Amino acid sequence: MHSFAIVGAGILGLATCLKIRERFPDASIVVLEKESDFAAHQSSHNSGVIHSGIYYKPGSQKSRFARAASQSMTAFCQAHDVNHRICGKLIVARDNEELKRLDVSYDNGRRSGLRVEKLSSEEVRGHEPHARVHGGLFVPEAGIVDYKDVCRKLVDRLKNLGVEFRYREEVRALKEERGHLGVFTRENSYKVGMLINCAGLHSDSVALMQGLSAARKQFQVVPFRGDFYTLKASRAHLVKGLIYPVPNPKYPFLGVHLGRLISDKVEVGPNAALNFSREGYDRSIVSRELARTLAFPGFWKMAGNYWKEGVAEIWRSYNKQAFLRAAQRYVPEIQLDDLDTVHAGIRAQTLSRAGRMLDDFEVLTGYRSVHLINAPSPAATCSFEIAGFIVDRVARHRAEH
Ligand SMILES: Cc1cc2nc3c(=O)[nH]c(=O)nc-3n(C[C@H](O)[C@H](O)[C@H](O)COP(=O)(O)OP(=O)(O)OC[C@H]3O[C@@H](n4cnc5c(N)ncnc54)[C@H](O)[C@@H]3O)c2cc1C
Repeated sequence: MHSFAIVGAGILGLATCLKIRERFPDASIVVLEKESDFAAHQSSHNSGVIHSGIYYKPGSQKSRFARAASQSMTAFCQAHDVNHRICGKLIVARDNEELKRLDVSYDNGRRSGLRVEKLSSEEVRGHEPHARVHGGLFVPEAGIVDYKDVCRKLVDRLKNLGVEFRYREEVRALKEERGHLGVFTRENSYKVGMLINCAGLHSDSVALMQGLSAARKQFQVVPFRGDFYTLKASRAHLVKGLIYPVPNPKYPFLGVHLGRLISDKVEVGPNAALNFSREGYDRSIVSRELARTLAFPGFWKMAGNYWKEGVAEIWRSYNKQAFLRAAQRYVPEIQLDDLDTVHAGIRAQTLSRAGRMLDDFEVLTGYRSVHLINAPSPAATCSFEIAGFIVDRVARHRAEH
C-alpha cells in the first residue's frame, strides 16, 4: 500500500510530489506515468516563459500565484542550477486602439505590484531594434527557461527522496474500497491512501474514472493546438527577447508572439486552434476524442462565442503565410523563408458546460482523491504555487476523513 499515488509526471505532478514529500516526510509515494519518460506532453511543448502575472486581474488567483511564482521558479532554478534568464518581456501595440488596451495591462501590472515601464516606439527599438510598433510596455520580471530541465531536476530530487517512479503505467480505472483507493493500470494494481490526479490533457478522464458527477456534468478538457515556427539561425538576430501582442480581452490565449528561448533559438507562435485529439501533434490524427469534444454542449456554446477567432486560428494552423503576417506585425523584416521548422504543443483547456473556458486553476475532491482539472498557462511558471494549493487540499481532505 502506498500513502500517495500521483498520476502524471508533468511539471505539476512533479512539483506536487515534492510538496507532498515535504509535508508528509514518512509517506510512501509512487508516480504513475503512462509515457516512457517524464514531461512528455505540455511540460516540454510550451513557450518556456516565466510569466510575471501582468495579464491577470489584480487579486485573482492567477495574479497572486504568478506574482509569487516568477520568484519561486527563479529561486528553484538558481538553487538547482537550471539555466534560465530574467530577460523581461515587451508587450507592444500596433496602433492607437492597441495603445489604449495597453493601458489596461499597465494598470493591472501596477495594481498587482509589478514593475512596469511604458515605452515609446523609439524606446521599444532600444530593446528590440527590428521591431516597428506604436509603443509598448516592458515587464522586467518575466524570463525564460526550459521547463523540461526544471522537470529533470525535480525527478532527480524526488528519486533521492525515495519517491518511486513507474513509467508506461497508464491509469485506466479507479475503485473505491474500504480504507484505500484501488488504482488499476493495464498490468498492475495499486492500493493507495490518496490519489492526486495531475494528468493534464487527460485529467478530466481520470476524474471520470471515479465517477465524479460534478466532472461528468460540468467540465471537459478541450485540446487547443499551438504551432511554433523556429526562425532560421541566420535571422535569429531579428529578435532579442520576448515580444508579445496586446492581449485580446475576449480570448484567453496570449496570441502569437516572438520569443528567444533559453537555447537561443527564436520561435514564432503559438496560435491556439482547436485540435482533433489531445495528443495529436501530427495534424492528420483524428481520434474518437473529436467526437467527445463535439458531443459536449459547452463546446458548441464556446464555438458560438469565439467562432471568428477560432476560424482564424485554425486557418493560421494550416497556413504559413498567415503565421508570417502575425510575425510581421511586430518585426516586418521577417520573411517567409525565415520561418524554418515547425512543431506544436497542445494545451489542456477545460470548458464548462455553459461554454466558458475556465480561467482559474481548478481542483475537485473525491473519495481519497484530489483532481487538478484545469491548469492552463501560466501553470508551468506557477507549478510550486499550484502544488502548494493542492497539498493544502490534500491535508484538509485527510483531516476530514
Ligand atoms: C503551446 C503551449 C505554450 C505554453 N506556454 C507556457 C509558458 O510559456 N509558460 C507557462 O507557465 N506555461 C505555459 N504553458 C502551460 C504549461 O505548459 C502547462 O500548464 C503545464 O505544463 C501543465 O503541466 P501538467 O503537469 O499539468 O501537464 P502535462 O505536462 O501534460 O503532464 C501530464 C502528464 O500526465 C500523464 N498522463 C495523462 N493521463 C494519464 C494516465 N491516465 N495515467 C498515467 N499518466 C497519465 C501524461 O502522459 C503527462 O505526462 C503552455 C502550454 C502550451 C501547450
